[in-house]
Amino acid sequence: MKRVAIIGGGISGLTAAFHLQKARALGSDLHYTVIEAGHRLGGSMYSDRVEGCLVEAGPDSFLTEKPWALTLCEELGIDDQLIGSNDAQRKTYIAVNNRLIAMPDGLMFMVPTKLVPTALSPLFSWGTKLRMARELMHPPRPMTGDETVGELVERHFGAEVLDRLADPLLSGVYGGDANKLSARAVLPRFVEMEERYGSLSKAMLAHNKVRAMAGGQPPRPLFSSLKDGMQQMVDAIVARLDPSALRLRTRVRAVYPQGDRWRLAIDMGGNEMFDAVIVATPANVTGALLEGVDRDLADDLLDMTYSSSVTVTLGYHMDQLRHLPPGFGFLVPRSEGRRMLACTFVHNKFPHRAPADKGVLRCFLGGTRDEAVLNLTDDEIMATVRRELQEIVKLEAPPMFDRVYRWRGAMAQYESGHIARVARTENRLKDIPGLEVAGNAYHGIGVPDCIREGMNAANGIVQTLSAAAAQAR
Ligand SMILES: Cc1cc2nc3c(=O)[nH]c(=O)nc-3n(C[C@H](O)[C@H](O)[C@H](O)COP(=O)(O)OP(=O)(O)OC[C@H]3O[C@@H](n4cnc5c(N)ncnc54)[C@H](O)[C@@H]3O)c2cc1C
Repeated sequence: MKRVAIIGGGISGLTAAFHLQKARALGSDLHYTVIEAGHRLGGSMYSDRVEGCLVEAGPDSFLTEKPWALTLCEELGIDDQLIGSNDAQRKTYIAVNNRLIAMPDGLMFMVPTKLVPTALSPLFSWGTKLRMARELMHPPRPMTGDETVGELVERHFGAEVLDRLADPLLSGVYGGDANKLSARAVLPRFVEMEERYGSLSKAMLAHNKVRAMAGGQPPRPLFSSLKDGMQQMVDAIVARLDPSALRLRTRVRAVYPQGDRWRLAIDMGGNEMFDAVIVATPANVTGALLEGVDRDLADDLLDMTYSSSVTVTLGYHMDQLRHLPPGFGFLVPRSEGRRMLACTFVHNKFPHRAPADKGVLRCFLGGTRDEAVLNLTDDEIMATVRRELQEIVKLEAPPMFDRVYRWRGAMAQYESGHIARVARTENRLKDIPGLEVAGNAYHGIGVPDCIREGMNAANGIVQTLSAAAAQAR
């Protein structure tokens, strides 16, 4: 029986374990062990219920368009628990000078596709609107270097669109800085569109036309989640795993090759031998663990930067929130000089998240530009959030409950050089059979991306082990 170690019990590591469990059920002669430093499984996926309201500490949903999370839910038999975002209410606001301005209709990410709503929107100055119109004439242009998202957006639409749309949108997803994130890695479709069409607006319009001509399919909700929260996915996976294979409160210190096996140095537990290893920790941890395996590989992984964030959930009586506009919530541009990056109106975004007489707001703080917020006390964070909510949306009432969660170094930043770094990492790993990595540092930071990573890592190990077994016969 071959022994496989999975280091890290977040969604990446758990998905790997689930696929190894499946391989075992199909006859693979292997045993896996999930080794998790924390006291619970799920990593940044954690849901709680407070006063009948669902509180998501980390991710609250995933993009429906990326299929891997939906497929996993089907395999786990929890697809009947899936819910879609309430897209009829899908309106997002930008907070400007303590006023919420709706993002104009037809805006796709930051690209305008409808003339009239954009022209009438108070979100942009006339200079920006003219620039948006001129963008339609942008000539096709191959991207040679590794431009940042900021450079790409500013080249097409100008600094105001970068400040009021692109930067806050990316802060919401990556906790990152548009002036550092790589356009190729974060917005690959935009890079392709520019190469083919020049104008991003023209490309989006062409894309919409093709989709409309294909017709047929009713539009799917933009986001999907689970009735009882993202934790439901974690619980459903864990229920399928061998309980004796799950080790909590156990930190791996280092991984060393030893002959054709692997030695794990484990906190308090000494050393343990395995035949294969999946490292599903953040890349900078993975780099440190693999220093004794391959210096170049470790250096590339250690170079990867991460952002930290704080989520604050506040529960209210619905009466106290009646004055809020309809919609999913608002984003706060950096130029507003606030600590809050975004606020989701949870009860509008998803049904089932709060009873009819209650409402839930979820605020995001931190990111690469404000790591210091993680060092504030919960009381200081709450005071900041309440002051900013009062100033931006005139919400004075004290919340019925509140929860503060800190996520240190949880979001990988795909900065310039990311694609080349990941390619080098994967090339090195090809020469190291029996070692795989997974997580949000490589091919996408969303939950579906991590699920795909975990699945691929498990399949890679199963293939390596069966090739070795075939050779030994
Ligand atoms: C606040 C927040 C909101 C988000 N919102 C969304 C969203 O709405 N939609 C979406 O798709 N994605 C979202 N994401 C991103 C997504 O949740 C993450 O990318 C994903 O959950 C990462 O999973 P993972 O398993 O790769 O890593 P993690 O969840 O970080 O798990 C890694 C695990 O490794 C363990 N570990 C670390 N070091 C060691 C060691 N030495 N030994 C043993 N164990 C170790 C850690 O304790 C941890 O449990 C969000 C992330 C955060 C933080």
